[in-house]
Amino acid sequence: MPLRVGFVGLGAMGLPMARNLHRAGLLAGAWNRTAAKAAALAAETGVTAAPSLAALARDCDVVVTCVSADADLLEVVAQLAAALRPGAIVADCSTVAASTAREAAQRLAAAGAEFLDCPVSGGTEGAVAGTLSIMVGGNETTLERARPALEAMGGSIALMGPVGAGQAAKATNQIMVAGINQAVTEALAFGQAQGLPMERLIAALEKGAAGNWFLSKRGPTMIRREFPLGFKVGLHAKDLEICRRMAEELGTRLPLVEMTLLHYSRLPAQSADEDISALFRLKSDMFPRGGD
Ligand code: NDP
Repeated sequence: MPLRVGFVGLGAMGLPMARNLHRAGLLAGAWNRTAAKAAALAAETGVTAAPSLAALARDCDVVVTCVSADADLLEVVAQLAAALRPGAIVADCSTVAASTAREAAQRLAAAGAEFLDCPVSGGTEGAVAGTLSIMVGGNETTLERARPALEAMGGSIALMGPVGAGQAAKATNQIMVAGINQAVTEALAFGQAQGLPMERLIAALEKGAAGNWFLSKRGPTMIRREFPLGFKVGLHAKDLEICRRMAEELGTRLPLVEMTLLHYSRLPAQSADEDISALFRLKSDMFPRGGD
């Protein structure tokens, strides 16, 4: 019998992830806070739009969640916990604090269910292609039971340790993303202020030692002052707040985290819903003639 998988949170990431579960023949149903999104997926795929989280939970072996932030996950888990079958698994792909993952696991364990923190990296492109890098925290046996669902959404599945370790790995990733964003936006703004032919510059740089995913995928759009999603500034700022708290627990502050949070706070308000490459706005404006 194939796994019966439910999906909660049909956002920019969740919708394509749910579609990949459907393609793999595993998606039994979906629930979304804004019900119209679940209804649209149901119309597209023929799977059930669950009327409530409890109804979805009753019908599934694995529930994959992909919601915005810590409080959202705990709300969803509280409602799922009341109805999940014994031994059912919640695999959470949201980015939240490691401590929130542990709290979710405790609440589910009290209800006889299991939990894996499964944060993902690879952006909306990775979600669409089913090639996400999934960093898992939890028990190995639980992971093996949930593996078919994760394989439908990811190209790499790495067990990092007990519950919370997946989120610790994702926090590490988000610090690196901050540094890469800082490096690429600042350097390209400098190149632009030098009057360089920007498309040719990106094509040259991406073949050398400074080449990276963000330069190749976001460089060509940022130099046109376009910032299509992608990954929202607001969500990265949320993740960096998590990194800040985790660093504070270790008694330190991280310069990249602090600088990026400060710079995001200086972007215009509408940038919260733009791609993180919108940091290029701030970097271009550092040059007296605006850099463009
Ligand atoms: P979106 O804002 O596109 O979607 C958020 C989803 O969560 C929506 O379905 C929303 O429902 C739902 N939601 C939010 N709050 C609640 C709540 N209280 N109860 C129930 N449902 C809720 O975000 P993304 O899809 O971009 O991101 C989702 C998660 O994945 C985040 O934790 C993010 O950090 C992480 N992530 C994002 C990446 C990206 O590139 N975008 C990459 C890797 C990880 P509704 O439709 O009603 O608003």
